[in-house]
Amino acid sequence: MDGTASGASSEQAAALQKENCLFCHIVEGKVLSRKVYEDESVIAILDINPANAGHILLMPKEHYLFMPQAPETMIGKLFVVAKQLSHAALRALRTDGTTIFVANGGIAGQRAPHFMVHIIPRLTGDGLALSVAENPIAAEVNEQVRKQIQAVLGAALGAAPSSAPAEMPEAVSGRAEPAAEKPIVPEERKKVGSDSDKQDSSGNGVDLDTITNMLLGGRNG
Ligand SMILES: [Zn+2]
Repeated sequence: MDGTASGASSEQAAALQKENCLFCHIVEGKVLSRKVYEDESVIAILDINPANAGHILLMPKEHYLFMPQAPETMIGKLFVVAKQLSHAALRALRTDGTTIFVANGGIAGQRAPHFMVHIIPRLTGDGLALSVAENPIAAEVNEQVRKQIQAVLGAALGAAPSSAPAEMPEAVSGRAEPAAEKPIVPEERKKVGSDSDKQDSSGNGVDLDTITNMLLGGRNG
């Protein structure tokens, strides 16, 4: 730190992170890949270590370590393209379904140092271990958690439901199937400091540094 320019260290950290990112090298064509789709802002390739045949990695061409760092326009774009890729996989590979997920942070199984969406064609009986365990949570804890999330979300999005329904049906559950991936490369975790990205690209007032720190495993900044 020589204090010549504020933000210089974070720019350097970001540049170093990009320099060491395999997926940025793929975007730049320095590393060969099996491209499925590409346009001016996103690229989709076949995973070199696929969970199933047709396992697609869809990512922004710009380097973002975690999902919250990507602008909302990019998040929207990615999921529009993910829908099309899923549709194409279903039709072309005659699969029975697709699992679509983002591993956000090492604890969630993120192993790539570049934010991406996984699209995995699924076949009946393919045996992929992508199921989520069911852990019973007490109703009062659920309600507490709902309030906590809503309080943060209300500040960010400004639209919160008025109150909890009088009776919550047991079956309401957004059960998804996140992947059991290996943790993110340890040195990548170190390289990104809390000051890696000062601007709030999401534009909703969420403290990006704090969120990035949490995703890096630091819980809070
Ligand atoms: Zn990258």
